[in-house]
Amino acid sequence: MQKGEAAKELCTMLGGDMVSTDAGLIARHCQDWHGDITSSAIALLRPRSTEDVSRAVRACAKLGLGVVPQGGRSGLALGAVPDAPESQVVLSLERMDRVRSLSAQDFTAVVEAGVVLESFKEEVAEAGLYFPLALGAQGTCQIGGNVSTNAGGVNVLRYGMTRELVLGLEVVLPDGRVLDRLSRLRKDNRGIDLKQLFIGAEGVLGIVTAVSFKLMPAPDQVSTALLALDSLEGAIELYRLARRQCCDLMSAFEFLPAEAFTLAREGIPDLSLPLEPAHRAYALVELSGSGLVDIEALLSQFLELAMEEGLVRDGVVAQSKAQARNIWLVREGMNEGQARRGKHLRTDLSVPLSELAAFVAEAEAAVGEALPGAVCVSYGHVGDGNVHLNVLPDPEGMEALDQQIFRAKTVLNGVLDRYDGSISAEHGVGRLKKADFAARASSVQHDLLGRIKRAIDPNLTMNPGCLIDLES
Ligand code: FAD
Repeated sequence: MQKGEAAKELCTMLGGDMVSTDAGLIARHCQDWHGDITSSAIALLRPRSTEDVSRAVRACAKLGLGVVPQGGRSGLALGAVPDAPESQVVLSLERMDRVRSLSAQDFTAVVEAGVVLESFKEEVAEAGLYFPLALGAQGTCQIGGNVSTNAGGVNVLRYGMTRELVLGLEVVLPDGRVLDRLSRLRKDNRGIDLKQLFIGAEGVLGIVTAVSFKLMPAPDQVSTALLALDSLEGAIELYRLARRQCCDLMSAFEFLPAEAFTLAREGIPDLSLPLEPAHRAYALVELSGSGLVDIEALLSQFLELAMEEGLVRDGVVAQSKAQARNIWLVREGMNEGQARRGKHLRTDLSVPLSELAAFVAEAEAAVGEALPGAVCVSYGHVGDGNVHLNVLPDPEGMEALDQQIFRAKTVLNGVLDRYDGSISAEHGVGRLKKADFAARASSVQHDLLGRIKRAIDPNLTMNPGCLIDLES
């Protein structure tokens, strides 16, 4: 069937409110976050209810069209961008944007997939509670995308990844049936926990339409510090000390290299730096808690000890929410700064914490040798063994940028494999890392993934081209 005919059929079957063939709108929904990739699709589907999603999925199955589920398009692995414009539609959850219920008694909420993470956090805060998932793209990403990528973010070391926050799911399956498991139970061991299959599945098994989440009591004290250190090794030592001294009251520990300040200023030109960048490495540490604990005193004691042990050279402790925000802007602005430098290699790697410093040193040296003009920027949620070791290619280099990026990735992955690390700590596989993932998966892993996919999606219509390639 021709693209135009398929779009017409969809309009007839689903109605003009749900189906858009507006070229400009489709183009916006077919671009990745960084604008590196622009694709196209037969149509954009924007359902308003679970029933709509079910009808849309059945219609696409009837016409043999692939369905690419889409949230806020902030995913960094190209999972939500179609790659076969002649045979795929984008299904955006953006109109399913209701918090269905919120219970302060149960510490739970049921929320639709299209709700933007930040709005959800705000609504939860208004009820005096706290939803701990927090990441740089929270003003854009949606709950369905968070669940489908099993997003991590800055609070993982205390609250876990998204998977640990999910109590239940509502999912539209590839045949249009609805798996309705919006449980609010904290304990439920009735056999195999099916919802786990859909968390982090990147939309290849079905469309998440609603989620039931655990909520937490809101912390009434938060202390944020930016500390100057000697090295990444020193940062990891400091992390271990913080873990021992502050235990579960530490909610974030981010590593920043010296370049973070320059990049953050490039990303946010009017940013006033919280301290003078005169050292080689920095750690952003945040403690939070409620009730009888004294978070400020705990942070002071920890800092005293860290200074005595010679781990901290300088630092600033935020005295207000505005100052804390300013510290976080250095971390967030450095992403923006890198984006402004143009095309570059973005990675999301993990190795065991005890090997992280050695891995970064070896990987940066290997990249430096292969691409002498390139700049490595290593930073991230190091407490989780997770590092974004990004490579900014040399714009004046002999090789084209894409070639430099490919070579840097090959060199990095070679080092990573020796450490038995992961090519995707939290961003998923999508279309971007599919080949690298396939090259590292064992035959048993391939076989199991293929069987699960075929069992749930026998016609392979759900997000085709994402995560794994199977022949129909
Ligand atoms: P999308 O990009 O729209 O989709 C992502 C994947 O999920 C795709 O495969 C898509 O098909 C699928 N999908 C989306 N919605 C559904 C649904 N309802 N049902 C089934 N499948 C669906 N990630 C982290 O883990 N930690 C971070 O700290 C972090 N920081 C970031 C900072 C920045 C500045 C940016 C740009 C991104 C960051 N990310 C981070 C990545 C990204 O924000 C997360 O992966 C986020 O969870 C994606 O949500 P989304 O709604 O944008 O999903």
